[in-house]
Amino acid sequence: MTKGGELTLVAGGAGFIGSHLCRALLKKGRNVLCLDNLQTARRENLLELEAYERFRFIESDITRPLPRQVLEQTGRITRIYNLACAASPDLYQADPEHTILTCVMGTNRLLHLAEDSGARFLLTSTSEVYGDPHVHPQPESYRGNVSCTGPRACYDEGKRAAETMAFDFARGGRADVRVARIFNTYGPNMRMDDGRVISNFICQALAGKPLTIYGNGEQTRSFCYVSDTVDGLLRLMESEDGDLGPVNIGNPSELTIAELIETLETVMGMRLAKVSRPLPIDDPKKRRPDIERATARLGWCPRTPLASGLAATVAWFERELRSNRTPTPERSPAVAAVGRQQAL
Ligand code: UDP
Repeated sequence: MTKGGELTLVAGGAGFIGSHLCRALLKKGRNVLCLDNLQTARRENLLELEAYERFRFIESDITRPLPRQVLEQTGRITRIYNLACAASPDLYQADPEHTILTCVMGTNRLLHLAEDSGARFLLTSTSEVYGDPHVHPQPESYRGNVSCTGPRACYDEGKRAAETMAFDFARGGRADVRVARIFNTYGPNMRMDDGRVISNFICQALAGKPLTIYGNGEQTRSFCYVSDTVDGLLRLMESEDGDLGPVNIGNPSELTIAELIETLETVMGMRLAKVSRPLPIDDPKKRRPDIERATARLGWCPRTPLASGLAATVAWFERELRSNRTPTPERSPAVAAVGRQQAL
């Protein structure tokens, strides 16, 4: 790491989106200090990053006091990205208390660090703040339909509270704050066993197993390739427009889960077996971002069509499976034991 240079801190930098963000920052010449508790991150994501001299990794959980090595850097830290939190429904529901504390207490610690160091702060929030939406597509002005007592609430309400805190710091002139609401993102570096639909379907297809369709497959999502999401986060952080409010970062091309399977079949050039499973509790029926704000204010829009993103993701999972280093549910029983709560 360059002595005396400015630092970008990425909490959750070993995770799926975080690792792509760290790489993009390193490619831009930044010094990157990555904090991660490795709870849901893949250690393998760090391999490529650790090849850079300007990258430093500290194993640390943001629900706990920040490590001394971080606090000693306050004068140098100019950007703080907070991506630290389990983000797939299976994994964030596995330890709901830790999830909500990560969102609220972890964000609070990082906001204080931003205040003390004068760093600009970006919170990665989520489309889950809209819950099971009654307004479609979802603009940032929509206040959402979230159950505060259901199994998803630890994440949804945690992120809503984190947003509240971030905007209070901004209103109080204590920190320069950006908030991204990230919609379903996919791509290389996902965990094979994180339970999300794209990683599940690709890994099931590659293992010759039937694809697990939850409910009737008519629920919709809008999937954004990870490089597009990272581009949106970088633009948001570097925007000099500090009065943006929350910004949706997602791909507005919406499709049903059944249509997602059809696209995957085309990409993989084969028909895939399917099996029905119950719909999880509070599973949103539809989701599509309104990205007018990101387009008008950041000049951002996603560029990767689903078919090419899926092809790159399938190729990556194939390579990982061959290398035998990605944890599969069989190889990580703790994660495999986690089951999403399903509606009867
Ligand atoms: N889903 C599915 N099969 C799976 C995993 C998920 O049909 O093996 C459905 C899930 O019920 C949801 C959608 O796919 O409607 C997206 O789920 P994911 O966990 O990827 O993210 P979410 O948008 O629910 O946070």
